[in-house]
Amino acid sequence: MYRTHTCGELRIQNVGQQVLISGWVQHIRDFGGTTFIDLRDRYGITQLVFDMETNKDLCEAARKLGREFVVSAEGMVRERSNKNKNIPTGEVEIEVKKLKVLNSAQTPPFTIENETDGGEELRMKYRYLDLRRNPLQHNIILRHRMALEIRKFLSDANFLEIETPYLIRSTPEGARDFIVPSRMNENQFYALPQSPQTYKQLLMVSGFDRYFQIVRCFRDEDLRADRQPEFTQIDCEMSFVEREDVLVNFEALTGHLFKAVRNIDLPPFLRMPYSEAISLYGSDKPDIRFGMQIQNLTDLAKNKGFVVFDNADQVLALVVEGAAEYTRKQLDELTEWIKRPQIGGTGLIWVKFAVDGSAKSSVDKFFTPDDLNNWKAKCNAADGDLMLVVAGSNKNIFSVAGELRLELGTRQGLRNPDHFAPLWVVDFPLLEWDDDSKRFFAMHHPFTSPIADDFALLATDPGKVRANAYDLVINGVEIGGGSIRIHDRNLQMQMFKALGFTDEEASAQFGFLLGAFEYGAPPHGGIAFGFDRFVAMMAGQNNIREFIAFPKNNSGRDVMADAPSAVSQQQLDELKVKLIPR
Ligand code: ASP
Repeated sequence: MYRTHTCGELRIQNVGQQVLISGWVQHIRDFGGTTFIDLRDRYGITQLVFDMETNKDLCEAARKLGREFVVSAEGMVRERSNKNKNIPTGEVEIEVKKLKVLNSAQTPPFTIENETDGGEELRMKYRYLDLRRNPLQHNIILRHRMALEIRKFLSDANFLEIETPYLIRSTPEGARDFIVPSRMNENQFYALPQSPQTYKQLLMVSGFDRYFQIVRCFRDEDLRADRQPEFTQIDCEMSFVEREDVLVNFEALTGHLFKAVRNIDLPPFLRMPYSEAISLYGSDKPDIRFGMQIQNLTDLAKNKGFVVFDNADQVLALVVEGAAEYTRKQLDELTEWIKRPQIGGTGLIWVKFAVDGSAKSSVDKFFTPDDLNNWKAKCNAADGDLMLVVAGSNKNIFSVAGELRLELGTRQGLRNPDHFAPLWVVDFPLLEWDDDSKRFFAMHHPFTSPIADDFALLATDPGKVRANAYDLVINGVEIGGGSIRIHDRNLQMQMFKALGFTDEEASAQFGFLLGAFEYGAPPHGGIAFGFDRFVAMMAGQNNIREFIAFPKNNSGRDVMADAPSAVSQQQLDELKVKLIPR
Protein backbone atom coordinates (compact mmCIF):
# COMPACT_ATOMS: atom_id res chain seq x y z
CA MET A 1 0.00 0.00 0.00
CA TYR A 2 1.43 3.33 -1.02
CA ARG A 3 -1.17 5.88 -0.09
CA THR A 4 -4.43 6.55 1.65
CA HIS A 5 -4.51 10.13 0.41
CA THR A 6 -2.84 12.25 -2.26
CA CYS A 7 -0.56 15.17 -1.44
CA GLY A 8 -3.32 17.62 -2.31
CA GLU A 9 -6.09 16.19 -0.22
CA LEU A 10 -5.63 16.69 3.49
CA ARG A 11 -7.53 19.50 5.25
CA ILE A 12 -8.22 20.65 8.77
CA GLN A 13 -11.07 18.07 8.99
CA ASN A 14 -8.50 15.29 8.70
CA VAL A 15 -6.66 16.33 11.87
CA GLY A 16 -6.10 13.31 14.12
CA GLN A 17 -6.26 10.74 11.30
CA GLN A 18 -3.50 8.24 10.54
CA VAL A 19 -2.57 8.63 6.88
CA LEU A 20 -0.07 7.34 4.36
CA ILE A 21 1.05 9.47 1.43
CA SER A 22 3.63 9.10 -1.34
CA GLY A 23 5.31 11.60 -3.60
CA TRP A 24 8.46 13.52 -4.53
CA VAL A 25 10.57 15.55 -2.14
CA GLN A 26 10.20 19.18 -3.18
CA HIS A 27 11.98 20.99 -0.32
CA ILE A 28 13.79 20.03 2.86
CA ARG A 29 14.05 22.64 5.60
CA ASP A 30 16.21 21.68 8.54
CA PHE A 31 15.80 23.74 11.72
CA GLY A 32 17.99 21.62 13.98
CA GLY A 33 15.26 20.33 16.28
CA THR A 34 12.72 19.90 13.52
CA THR A 35 12.92 19.02 9.85
CA PHE A 36 10.19 19.89 7.36
CA ILE A 37 9.71 18.25 4.01
CA ASP A 38 7.32 19.40 1.30
CA LEU A 39 6.06 16.28 -0.42
CA ARG A 40 4.65 16.81 -3.88
CA ASP A 41 2.50 14.86 -6.30
CA ARG A 42 0.23 15.87 -9.13
CA TYR A 43 -2.49 16.94 -6.71
CA GLY A 44 -0.52 19.28 -4.47
CA ILE A 45 1.97 19.61 -1.66
CA THR A 46 1.76 18.35 1.91
CA GLN A 47 4.14 19.28 4.69
CA LEU A 48 5.82 16.43 6.58
CA VAL A 49 7.35 17.09 10.03
CA PHE A 50 10.13 15.16 11.70
CA ASP A 51 10.95 15.90 15.29
CA MET A 52 14.46 15.29 16.66
CA GLU A 53 13.26 14.89 20.25
CA THR A 54 10.54 12.29 19.61
CA ASN A 55 12.27 10.33 16.86
CA LYS A 56 15.93 11.05 16.30
CA ASP A 57 16.62 8.26 13.78
CA LEU A 58 13.71 9.18 11.59
CA CYS A 59 14.64 12.82 11.67
CA GLU A 60 18.17 12.03 10.63
CA ALA A 61 16.92 9.82 7.82
CA ALA A 62 14.72 12.65 6.61
CA ARG A 63 17.65 15.06 6.55
CA LYS A 64 19.55 12.70 4.29
CA LEU A 65 16.89 12.72 1.59
CA GLY A 66 17.58 14.67 -1.55
CA ARG A 67 15.36 16.70 -3.84
CA GLU A 68 13.08 14.56 -6.01
CA PHE A 69 13.55 11.38 -3.94
CA VAL A 70 10.37 9.32 -4.08
CA VAL A 71 9.17 8.52 -0.57
CA SER A 72 6.13 7.37 1.32
CA ALA A 73 5.37 8.72 4.76
CA GLU A 74 2.97 7.49 7.39
CA GLY A 75 1.81 9.47 10.37
CA MET A 76 -0.84 11.58 11.99
CA VAL A 77 -2.42 14.69 10.54
CA ARG A 78 -2.10 17.67 12.85
CA GLU A 79 -2.91 21.36 12.70
CA ARG A 80 -0.04 23.59 11.67
CA SER A 81 0.95 26.38 13.98
CA ASN A 82 2.38 28.34 11.07
CA LYS A 83 -0.34 28.13 8.42
CA ASN A 84 0.25 28.62 4.71
CA LYS A 85 -2.80 30.36 3.28
CA ASN A 86 -1.51 30.02 -0.28
CA ILE A 87 -2.10 26.29 -0.66
CA PRO A 88 -5.24 24.22 0.05
CA THR A 89 -3.33 21.84 2.33
CA GLY A 90 -1.63 24.72 4.16
CA GLU A 91 -3.50 24.33 7.44
CA VAL A 92 -2.20 20.85 8.21
CA GLU A 93 0.96 18.76 8.33
CA ILE A 94 1.82 15.12 8.94
CA GLU A 95 3.77 14.16 12.03
CA VAL A 96 5.70 11.31 10.44
CA LYS A 97 6.09 7.96 12.23
CA LYS A 98 7.33 5.86 9.34
CA LEU A 99 9.31 6.88 6.30
CA LYS A 100 10.16 4.72 3.32
CA VAL A 101 12.45 5.68 0.48
CA LEU A 102 10.85 4.23 -2.66
CA ASN A 103 13.55 5.52 -4.94
CA SER A 104 16.47 7.89 -4.80
CA ALA A 105 17.11 10.63 -7.36
CA GLN A 106 20.04 12.52 -8.75
CA THR A 107 19.90 16.24 -8.21
CA PRO A 108 17.73 17.40 -11.11
CA PRO A 109 19.47 19.53 -13.78
CA PHE A 110 17.05 22.38 -13.12
CA THR A 111 14.73 23.31 -10.31
CA ILE A 112 11.31 21.69 -10.29
CA GLU A 113 9.53 24.93 -9.41
CA ASN A 114 6.90 27.11 -11.04
CA GLU A 115 9.71 29.38 -12.26
CA THR A 116 12.58 27.11 -13.15
CA ASP A 117 16.22 28.02 -13.71
CA GLY A 118 16.40 25.59 -16.65
CA GLY A 119 16.79 26.87 -20.20
CA GLU A 120 14.58 25.64 -23.05
CA GLU A 121 17.05 23.09 -24.42
CA LEU A 122 17.77 21.53 -21.02
CA ARG A 123 14.08 21.38 -20.16
CA MET A 124 13.40 19.61 -23.46
CA LYS A 125 16.18 17.11 -22.86
CA TYR A 126 14.71 16.22 -19.47
CA ARG A 127 11.13 16.71 -20.53
CA TYR A 128 9.91 14.13 -17.99
CA LEU A 129 11.27 16.37 -15.23
CA ASP A 130 9.95 19.54 -16.82
CA LEU A 131 6.54 17.90 -16.88
CA ARG A 132 6.69 17.56 -13.10
CA ARG A 133 6.50 21.32 -12.75
CA ASN A 134 3.12 22.80 -11.81
CA PRO A 135 2.59 25.01 -14.87
CA LEU A 136 3.20 22.08 -17.22
CA GLN A 137 1.01 19.79 -15.15
CA HIS A 138 -1.79 22.36 -15.36
CA ASN A 139 -1.34 22.65 -19.12
CA ILE A 140 -1.57 18.92 -19.67
CA ILE A 141 -4.58 18.65 -17.35
CA LEU A 142 -6.24 21.53 -19.21
CA ARG A 143 -5.63 19.67 -22.45
CA HIS A 144 -7.28 16.57 -21.04
CA ARG A 145 -10.27 18.52 -19.77
CA MET A 146 -10.78 20.16 -23.13
CA ALA A 147 -10.54 16.87 -25.01
CA LEU A 148 -13.10 15.39 -22.64
CA GLU A 149 -15.51 18.32 -23.05
CA ILE A 150 -15.15 18.12 -26.82
CA ARG A 151 -15.93 14.42 -26.83
CA LYS A 152 -18.93 14.91 -24.56
CA PHE A 153 -20.31 17.84 -26.52
CA LEU A 154 -19.89 16.29 -29.95
CA SER A 155 -21.08 12.87 -28.86
CA ASP A 156 -24.23 14.46 -27.38
CA ALA A 157 -24.74 16.15 -30.74
CA ASN A 158 -24.66 12.75 -32.48
CA PHE A 159 -21.10 12.94 -33.78
CA LEU A 160 -19.23 9.62 -33.90
CA GLU A 161 -15.51 9.42 -33.24
CA ILE A 162 -14.07 7.30 -36.02
CA GLU A 163 -10.38 6.59 -36.55
CA THR A 164 -8.82 7.03 -39.97
CA PRO A 165 -5.49 5.57 -41.11
CA TYR A 166 -2.07 7.06 -40.43
CA LEU A 167 -0.39 5.26 -43.31
CA ILE A 168 -1.93 6.76 -46.39
CA ARG A 169 -1.23 7.72 -49.98
CA SER A 170 0.99 10.73 -50.58
CA THR A 171 -0.86 13.62 -52.19
CA PRO A 172 1.52 16.42 -53.05
CA GLU A 173 -1.08 19.21 -52.73
CA GLY A 174 -0.80 21.33 -49.57
CA ALA A 175 2.23 21.09 -47.29
CA ARG A 176 5.09 18.62 -47.63
CA ASP A 177 4.29 15.03 -46.65
CA PHE A 178 6.28 12.88 -44.27
CA ILE A 179 6.82 9.66 -46.15
CA VAL A 180 7.31 6.13 -44.86
CA PRO A 181 8.90 3.39 -46.97
CA SER A 182 6.93 0.17 -47.29
CA ARG A 183 8.92 -3.03 -46.70
CA MET A 184 6.29 -5.25 -48.27
CA ASN A 185 5.82 -3.07 -51.32
CA GLU A 186 9.24 -2.42 -52.69
CA ASN A 187 9.98 1.11 -53.88
CA GLN A 188 6.65 2.34 -52.60
CA PHE A 189 5.88 4.74 -49.83
CA TYR A 190 3.11 5.68 -47.52
CA ALA A 191 2.61 9.23 -46.35
CA LEU A 192 1.54 10.30 -42.88
CA PRO A 193 -1.72 12.27 -43.14
CA GLN A 194 -1.61 16.06 -43.19
CA SER A 195 -5.23 15.71 -42.16
CA PRO A 196 -7.91 13.04 -42.52
CA GLN A 197 -9.59 15.20 -45.17
CA THR A 198 -10.39 12.66 -47.88
CA TYR A 199 -11.20 9.90 -45.39
CA LYS A 200 -13.69 12.01 -43.51
CA GLN A 201 -15.37 12.88 -46.79
CA LEU A 202 -15.55 9.20 -47.63
CA LEU A 203 -17.17 8.56 -44.24
CA MET A 204 -19.90 10.99 -45.35
CA VAL A 205 -20.37 8.94 -48.51
CA SER A 206 -20.66 5.91 -46.20
CA GLY A 207 -23.54 7.58 -44.40
CA PHE A 208 -21.88 8.36 -41.07
CA ASP A 209 -23.45 11.78 -41.23
CA ARG A 210 -21.59 13.37 -38.31
CA TYR A 211 -17.96 12.43 -37.70
CA PHE A 212 -15.25 13.77 -35.47
CA GLN A 213 -11.81 12.71 -34.36
CA ILE A 214 -9.20 14.20 -32.09
CA VAL A 215 -6.41 13.20 -34.37
CA ARG A 216 -2.69 13.60 -34.97
CA CYS A 217 -1.70 15.25 -38.25
CA PHE A 218 1.76 15.52 -39.81
CA ARG A 219 3.22 18.29 -41.94
CA ASP A 220 6.85 18.54 -42.92
CA GLU A 221 7.07 22.33 -42.77
CA ASP A 222 9.50 24.81 -41.28
CA LEU A 223 8.70 25.27 -37.64
CA ARG A 224 7.69 28.26 -35.56
CA ALA A 225 6.56 28.73 -31.98
CA ASP A 226 3.01 27.85 -32.92
CA ARG A 227 3.83 24.95 -35.24
CA GLN A 228 4.92 21.36 -34.72
CA PRO A 229 5.62 18.67 -37.32
CA GLU A 230 3.01 16.54 -35.61
CA PHE A 231 0.06 18.32 -34.13
CA THR A 232 -3.49 17.51 -33.11
CA GLN A 233 -6.71 18.52 -34.78
CA ILE A 234 -10.30 18.34 -33.71
CA ASP A 235 -11.43 17.13 -37.09
CA CYS A 236 -15.14 17.19 -37.96
CA GLU A 237 -17.42 16.57 -40.90
CA MET A 238 -21.19 16.74 -41.38
CA SER A 239 -23.59 15.67 -44.12
CA PHE A 240 -26.64 17.53 -45.38
CA VAL A 241 -25.38 20.88 -44.20
CA GLU A 242 -24.81 24.33 -45.58
CA ARG A 243 -22.21 26.74 -44.32
CA GLU A 244 -24.54 28.24 -41.76
CA ASP A 245 -25.22 24.84 -40.17
CA VAL A 246 -21.51 24.20 -39.69
CA LEU A 247 -20.87 27.66 -38.27
CA VAL A 248 -23.76 27.43 -35.81
CA ASN A 249 -22.67 23.97 -34.62
CA PHE A 250 -19.06 24.88 -34.05
CA GLU A 251 -19.81 28.27 -32.61
CA ALA A 252 -21.79 26.28 -30.04
CA LEU A 253 -18.87 23.91 -29.39
CA THR A 254 -16.47 26.83 -28.97
CA GLY A 255 -18.89 28.65 -26.68
CA HIS A 256 -19.34 25.48 -24.63
CA LEU A 257 -15.59 25.02 -24.21
CA PHE A 258 -15.03 28.58 -23.04
CA LYS A 259 -17.89 28.24 -20.57
CA ALA A 260 -16.88 24.82 -19.28
CA VAL A 261 -13.17 25.52 -18.99
CA ARG A 262 -12.90 29.24 -18.26
CA ASN A 263 -16.46 30.14 -17.24
CA ILE A 264 -16.44 32.79 -19.95
CA ASP A 265 -19.53 33.66 -21.99
CA LEU A 266 -18.41 34.47 -25.51
CA PRO A 267 -20.29 37.11 -27.49
CA PRO A 268 -22.00 35.99 -30.74
CA PHE A 269 -19.34 35.45 -33.41
CA LEU A 270 -19.06 38.16 -36.01
CA ARG A 271 -18.91 37.06 -39.67
CA MET A 272 -16.50 38.98 -41.82
CA PRO A 273 -15.77 38.52 -45.51
CA TYR A 274 -12.11 37.92 -46.29
CA SER A 275 -11.95 41.09 -48.41
CA GLU A 276 -13.09 43.18 -45.46
CA ALA A 277 -10.63 41.46 -43.10
CA ILE A 278 -7.80 42.42 -45.45
CA SER A 279 -8.91 45.99 -46.16
CA LEU A 280 -9.77 46.89 -42.55
CA TYR A 281 -7.31 44.76 -40.59
CA GLY A 282 -4.63 43.84 -43.11
CA SER A 283 -4.95 40.17 -42.14
CA ASP A 284 -7.13 37.15 -42.79
CA LYS A 285 -7.06 36.55 -39.05
CA PRO A 286 -7.93 39.92 -37.57
CA ASP A 287 -7.57 40.63 -33.88
CA ILE A 288 -10.82 42.46 -33.21
CA ARG A 289 -10.25 42.99 -29.51
CA PHE A 290 -9.54 46.56 -30.52
CA GLY A 291 -10.62 48.95 -33.32
CA MET A 292 -7.90 51.01 -34.99
CA GLN A 293 -9.11 49.88 -38.41
CA ILE A 294 -7.00 50.63 -41.44
CA GLN A 295 -8.09 53.84 -43.21
CA ASN A 296 -7.53 54.36 -46.89
CA LEU A 297 -5.98 57.73 -47.77
CA THR A 298 -5.01 56.83 -51.34
CA ASP A 299 -7.34 59.35 -53.05
CA LEU A 300 -6.45 62.19 -50.71
CA ALA A 301 -2.72 61.61 -50.49
CA LYS A 302 -1.66 60.84 -54.04
CA ASN A 303 -0.73 63.41 -56.71
CA LYS A 304 0.44 66.07 -54.30
CA GLY A 305 4.07 65.80 -55.29
CA PHE A 306 5.23 63.34 -52.62
CA VAL A 307 6.81 60.61 -54.71
CA VAL A 308 6.56 57.85 -52.09
CA PHE A 309 2.79 58.20 -52.17
CA ASP A 310 2.60 58.92 -55.89
CA ASN A 311 4.43 55.69 -56.70
CA ALA A 312 2.35 53.57 -54.34
CA ASP A 313 -0.81 51.61 -55.14
CA GLN A 314 -2.22 52.34 -51.71
CA VAL A 315 -1.71 54.88 -48.94
CA LEU A 316 -3.01 53.51 -45.66
CA ALA A 317 -3.38 55.14 -42.27
CA LEU A 318 -3.87 54.07 -38.67
CA VAL A 319 -5.11 56.42 -35.97
CA VAL A 320 -3.73 55.85 -32.50
CA GLU A 321 -6.09 57.48 -30.03
CA GLY A 322 -4.51 60.00 -27.68
CA ALA A 323 -0.99 59.16 -28.84
CA ALA A 324 0.03 62.56 -30.26
CA GLU A 325 2.51 62.60 -27.38
CA TYR A 326 4.64 59.83 -28.91
CA THR A 327 8.25 61.02 -28.79
CA ARG A 328 10.66 61.28 -31.65
CA LYS A 329 12.45 58.28 -30.22
CA GLN A 330 9.29 56.15 -30.18
CA LEU A 331 8.48 57.13 -33.77
CA ASP A 332 12.02 56.36 -34.93
CA GLU A 333 11.79 53.01 -33.21
CA LEU A 334 8.51 52.20 -34.99
CA THR A 335 10.04 53.26 -38.30
CA GLU A 336 12.91 50.84 -37.75
CA TRP A 337 10.48 48.17 -36.67
CA ILE A 338 8.39 48.47 -39.82
CA LYS A 339 11.47 48.11 -42.02
CA ARG A 340 12.31 44.68 -40.63
CA PRO A 341 12.27 42.04 -43.35
CA GLN A 342 9.51 40.08 -41.58
CA ILE A 343 7.29 43.17 -41.73
CA GLY A 344 8.40 44.43 -45.12
CA GLY A 345 7.56 48.15 -44.85
CA THR A 346 9.70 50.81 -46.50
CA GLY A 347 9.04 53.66 -44.09
CA LEU A 348 6.56 55.37 -41.84
CA ILE A 349 5.00 58.82 -42.02
CA TRP A 350 3.48 60.37 -38.94
CA VAL A 351 1.01 63.14 -38.26
CA LYS A 352 0.40 64.50 -34.77
CA PHE A 353 -2.93 66.21 -34.16
CA ALA A 354 -2.19 68.36 -31.14
CA VAL A 355 -4.79 69.09 -28.46
CA ASP A 356 -4.84 72.75 -29.56
CA GLY A 357 -6.14 71.68 -32.98
CA SER A 358 -2.88 72.18 -34.88
CA ALA A 359 -1.23 69.41 -36.90
CA LYS A 360 2.40 68.57 -37.45
CA SER A 361 3.75 65.83 -39.69
CA SER A 362 6.91 64.30 -41.07
CA VAL A 363 5.73 65.37 -44.55
CA ASP A 364 4.93 69.04 -43.87
CA LYS A 365 6.94 69.96 -46.96
CA PHE A 366 4.43 68.24 -49.22
CA PHE A 367 1.12 68.62 -47.44
CA THR A 368 -0.61 71.77 -46.20
CA PRO A 369 -2.48 71.99 -42.88
CA ASP A 370 -5.66 71.76 -44.97
CA ASP A 371 -4.47 68.47 -46.49
CA LEU A 372 -3.72 67.11 -43.04
CA ASN A 373 -7.13 68.23 -41.82
CA ASN A 374 -8.74 66.40 -44.72
CA TRP A 375 -6.89 63.24 -43.67
CA LYS A 376 -8.05 63.82 -40.12
CA ALA A 377 -11.69 64.13 -41.20
CA LYS A 378 -11.50 61.08 -43.50
CA CYS A 379 -10.09 58.95 -40.69
CA ASN A 380 -12.26 60.36 -37.93
CA ALA A 381 -9.16 61.34 -35.99
CA ALA A 382 -9.44 63.74 -33.06
CA ASP A 383 -7.22 66.30 -31.41
CA GLY A 384 -4.58 64.50 -29.41
CA ASP A 385 -4.41 61.53 -31.82
CA LEU A 386 -1.42 60.22 -33.71
CA MET A 387 -1.79 59.13 -37.33
CA LEU A 388 0.69 56.73 -38.90
CA VAL A 389 0.76 56.36 -42.66
CA VAL A 390 2.31 53.65 -44.83
CA ALA A 391 2.35 53.34 -48.59
CA GLY A 392 3.21 50.55 -50.98
CA SER A 393 2.01 47.97 -53.45
CA ASN A 394 -1.35 46.21 -53.41
CA LYS A 395 0.55 43.02 -52.81
CA ASN A 396 2.04 43.71 -49.41
CA ILE A 397 0.95 47.04 -47.98
CA PHE A 398 -2.20 45.75 -46.30
CA SER A 399 -0.20 43.17 -44.41
CA VAL A 400 2.36 45.83 -43.41
CA ALA A 401 -0.46 48.04 -42.10
CA GLY A 402 -1.98 45.00 -40.38
CA GLU A 403 1.28 44.15 -38.61
CA LEU A 404 1.72 47.77 -37.57
CA ARG A 405 -1.82 47.78 -36.21
CA LEU A 406 -1.06 44.73 -34.05
CA GLU A 407 2.18 46.24 -32.82
CA LEU A 408 0.43 49.48 -31.88
CA GLY A 409 -2.36 47.51 -30.23
CA THR A 410 0.25 45.74 -28.11
CA ARG A 411 2.11 48.96 -27.27
CA GLN A 412 -1.12 50.71 -26.31
CA GLY A 413 -2.19 47.79 -24.11
CA LEU A 414 -5.27 47.05 -26.22
CA ARG A 415 -4.77 43.29 -26.49
CA ASN A 416 -5.96 42.01 -23.14
CA PRO A 417 -5.21 38.26 -22.95
CA ASP A 418 -8.26 37.70 -20.77
CA HIS A 419 -10.62 39.18 -23.32
CA PHE A 420 -11.70 36.91 -26.18
CA ALA A 421 -13.04 38.27 -29.46
CA PRO A 422 -14.08 35.48 -31.85
CA LEU A 423 -15.18 35.82 -35.46
CA TRP A 424 -15.72 33.77 -38.59
CA VAL A 425 -13.80 34.94 -41.62
CA VAL A 426 -15.76 33.82 -44.69
CA ASP A 427 -15.70 34.05 -48.50
CA PHE A 428 -12.01 33.38 -48.99
CA PRO A 429 -10.72 33.29 -52.55
CA LEU A 430 -10.88 29.70 -53.79
CA LEU A 431 -7.52 29.84 -55.56
CA GLU A 432 -4.25 31.59 -55.09
CA TRP A 433 -1.87 32.29 -57.98
CA ASP A 434 1.71 31.18 -57.48
CA ASP A 435 4.17 33.22 -59.51
CA ASP A 436 6.99 30.67 -59.20
CA SER A 437 5.15 27.65 -60.55
CA LYS A 438 2.79 29.77 -62.68
CA ARG A 439 -0.30 27.96 -61.54
CA PHE A 440 -3.17 28.25 -59.13
CA PHE A 441 -3.15 26.54 -55.75
CA ALA A 442 -6.20 25.88 -53.62
CA MET A 443 -6.16 28.41 -50.80
CA HIS A 444 -7.84 25.91 -48.47
CA HIS A 445 -7.63 22.54 -50.22
CA PRO A 446 -8.81 21.13 -53.56
CA PHE A 447 -12.02 19.71 -52.09
CA THR A 448 -13.47 23.06 -51.08
CA SER A 449 -16.59 24.07 -52.97
CA PRO A 450 -16.83 27.42 -54.72
CA ILE A 451 -19.71 29.62 -53.64
CA ALA A 452 -22.65 28.60 -55.84
CA ASP A 453 -22.89 32.06 -57.45
CA ASP A 454 -19.30 31.73 -58.64
CA PHE A 455 -19.43 28.22 -60.18
CA ALA A 456 -19.40 29.58 -63.73
CA LEU A 457 -16.32 31.72 -63.08
CA LEU A 458 -14.22 28.61 -62.44
CA ALA A 459 -13.77 28.07 -66.16
CA THR A 460 -13.49 31.73 -67.16
CA ASP A 461 -11.83 33.69 -64.34
CA PRO A 462 -10.68 31.24 -61.64
CA GLY A 463 -8.85 33.89 -59.61
CA LYS A 464 -12.17 35.63 -58.89
CA VAL A 465 -13.98 32.60 -57.53
CA ARG A 466 -14.91 32.77 -53.84
CA ALA A 467 -14.68 29.64 -51.73
CA ASN A 468 -17.45 28.36 -49.50
CA ALA A 469 -14.83 28.29 -46.75
CA TYR A 470 -14.55 29.72 -43.27
CA ASP A 471 -11.95 30.23 -40.56
CA LEU A 472 -12.58 30.62 -36.86
CA VAL A 473 -10.34 33.39 -35.57
CA ILE A 474 -9.94 34.38 -31.93
CA ASN A 475 -7.72 37.27 -30.88
CA GLY A 476 -5.79 37.23 -34.13
CA VAL A 477 -5.15 33.49 -33.99
CA GLU A 478 -6.60 31.06 -36.51
CA ILE A 479 -8.16 28.39 -34.34
CA GLY A 480 -9.95 26.44 -37.03
CA GLY A 481 -10.89 26.33 -40.65
CA GLY A 482 -13.09 24.37 -42.97
CA SER A 483 -15.42 24.47 -45.90
CA ILE A 484 -18.44 23.10 -47.66
CA ARG A 485 -17.04 20.43 -49.96
CA ILE A 486 -17.51 19.62 -53.56
CA HIS A 487 -19.68 16.47 -53.78
CA ASP A 488 -20.21 16.45 -57.50
CA ARG A 489 -17.70 14.55 -59.61
CA ASN A 490 -17.81 17.00 -62.51
CA LEU A 491 -17.27 20.04 -60.34
CA GLN A 492 -14.38 18.24 -58.60
CA MET A 493 -12.82 17.48 -62.00
CA GLN A 494 -13.22 21.14 -62.98
CA MET A 495 -11.50 22.14 -59.77
CA PHE A 496 -8.57 19.81 -60.48
CA LYS A 497 -8.38 21.29 -63.95
CA ALA A 498 -8.20 24.83 -62.53
CA LEU A 499 -5.32 23.57 -60.37
CA GLY A 500 -3.48 22.43 -63.47
CA PHE A 501 -4.11 18.66 -63.13
CA THR A 502 -4.69 16.63 -66.26
CA ASP A 503 -7.63 14.19 -66.06
CA GLU A 504 -5.13 11.34 -65.75
CA GLU A 505 -3.26 12.97 -62.88
CA ALA A 506 -6.50 13.69 -61.08
CA SER A 507 -7.70 10.10 -61.45
CA ALA A 508 -4.32 8.66 -60.50
CA GLN A 509 -4.12 10.66 -57.28
CA PHE A 510 -7.73 11.09 -56.25
CA GLY A 511 -9.48 8.31 -58.18
CA PHE A 512 -10.82 6.80 -54.96
CA LEU A 513 -12.59 10.02 -54.03
CA LEU A 514 -13.83 10.73 -57.55
CA GLY A 515 -15.07 7.14 -57.70
CA ALA A 516 -16.93 7.57 -54.43
CA PHE A 517 -18.64 10.65 -55.82
CA GLU A 518 -20.27 8.37 -58.39
CA TYR A 519 -22.01 6.33 -55.71
CA GLY A 520 -24.28 8.84 -54.04
CA ALA A 521 -22.15 11.37 -52.18
CA PRO A 522 -24.32 13.58 -49.96
CA PRO A 523 -23.76 17.33 -49.71
CA HIS A 524 -21.29 17.77 -46.87
CA GLY A 525 -18.91 20.13 -45.16
CA GLY A 526 -16.74 20.34 -42.09
CA ILE A 527 -14.04 21.97 -40.14
CA ALA A 528 -10.85 21.21 -38.23
CA PHE A 529 -9.56 23.04 -35.17
CA GLY A 530 -5.91 23.20 -34.19
CA PHE A 531 -6.25 21.53 -30.82
CA ASP A 532 -2.79 22.43 -29.45
CA ARG A 533 -3.33 26.06 -30.33
CA PHE A 534 -6.83 26.05 -28.93
CA VAL A 535 -5.60 24.72 -25.58
CA ALA A 536 -2.78 27.28 -25.48
CA MET A 537 -5.23 30.07 -26.23
CA MET A 538 -7.54 28.90 -23.46
CA ALA A 539 -4.59 29.37 -21.09
CA GLY A 540 -3.83 32.79 -22.58
CA GLN A 541 -0.52 31.64 -24.09
CA ASN A 542 0.84 31.12 -27.57
CA ASN A 543 3.68 28.62 -27.33
CA ILE A 544 1.95 25.35 -28.16
CA ARG A 545 4.97 23.33 -26.99
CA GLU A 546 3.98 24.04 -23.42
CA PHE A 547 0.74 22.17 -24.07
CA ILE A 548 2.16 19.06 -25.73
CA ALA A 549 3.64 16.44 -23.43
CA PHE A 550 6.54 15.53 -25.71
CA PRO A 551 7.04 18.21 -28.38
CA LYS A 552 9.76 18.63 -30.99
CA ASN A 553 12.22 21.51 -30.97
CA ASN A 554 12.65 24.10 -33.71
CA SER A 555 14.60 21.71 -35.89
CA GLY A 556 11.91 19.06 -35.60
CA ARG A 557 13.96 17.02 -33.13
CA ASP A 558 12.89 15.14 -30.06
CA VAL A 559 15.99 16.10 -28.05
CA MET A 560 15.05 13.79 -25.21
CA ALA A 561 14.88 10.58 -27.23
CA ASP A 562 17.26 11.99 -29.85
CA ALA A 563 15.02 11.48 -32.84
CA PRO A 564 15.25 11.40 -35.77
CA SER A 565 18.23 9.06 -35.78
CA ALA A 566 20.16 6.78 -38.07
CA VAL A 567 18.82 3.23 -38.45
CA SER A 568 20.72 -0.01 -38.83
CA GLN A 569 21.96 -1.31 -42.17
CA GLN A 570 19.69 -4.30 -41.71
CA GLN A 571 16.62 -2.07 -41.45
CA LEU A 572 17.69 -0.19 -44.55
CA ASP A 573 18.30 -3.42 -46.45
CA GLU A 574 14.87 -4.74 -45.54
CA LEU A 575 13.38 -1.57 -46.90
CA LYS A 576 15.65 -1.61 -49.93
CA VAL A 577 16.65 1.93 -49.06
CA LYS A 578 20.13 3.08 -50.05
CA LEU A 579 21.70 6.04 -48.34
CA ILE A 580 23.57 8.54 -50.43
CA PRO A 581 26.98 8.98 -48.77
CA ARG A 582 27.66 12.61 -47.79
N1 ASP B 1 -8.62 19.32 -43.43
C1 ASP B 1 -8.63 20.75 -43.33
C2 ASP B 1 -7.31 21.23 -42.71
O1 ASP B 1 -6.57 20.44 -42.17
C3 ASP B 1 -9.73 21.26 -42.50
C4 ASP B 1 -11.05 21.06 -43.11
O2 ASP B 1 -11.30 21.55 -44.22
O3 ASP B 1 -11.90 20.41 -42.46
O4 ASP B 1 -7.02 22.40 -42.76
